[in-house]
This record gives sequence, structure tokens and C-alpha cells, in this order.
Amino acid sequence: MSYKRDTCSKCGEKSILKGEIGLRTSKDKELIMIVRQDHGVEKSVPLQPNICSQCGFVDLYVQNPNHLKINSEDRPINPDFKQRPLLESDF
Ligand SMILES: [Zn+2]
Repeated sequence: MSYKRDTCSKCGEKSILKGEIGLRTSKDKELIMIVRQDHGVEKSVPLQPNICSQCGFVDLYVQNPNHLKINSEDRPINPDFKQRPLLESDF
């Protein structure tokens, strides 16, 4: 699913900057990630900005929020992690 907005949610102008725009560290240009830890499982997706060229408003989003969901196949990053059994309602 590709999701790109072209309208600024602050000023309402259709002036969102085009192109591959990502949040990166200034030093090594590594992407900034959203990291979710739950049940000892770690999931991450890159944090992506929409930037309005009119007012400079920056809107943050992730392209694949489904990647942050924890599945029954996911294994805890720490093998010693003790957890209660995963329930259907956890997903
Ligand atoms: Zn704007």
C-alpha cells in the first residue's frame, strides 16, 4: 500500500514536497525508525515525513503500519524472555 498525501494538514495547500524524503541522522544518514517492543518482540518501520513547501509543516507517518503488528511467528529478541502466552487479543 503506497500512501502519499499532497495536501498540508496545517495550511491546506497542495504543496507537499515530492520525492523520496526520509528522516535521517545527520552523521551517517541512517533512517530513523519507529521501534515497537511488546511481548519481547521488536518490530520497526522507517518514520517518514510529509513536508509542506508553503508553511514548513512536517507531518510524520509510516508507510507500512502493518509491520508493527506482532504475529505468532515472531520470536522474542532476547531468547530468555519469559512471557505469558500470546493471546488472540494481543494482535
Ligand atoms: Zn502547509
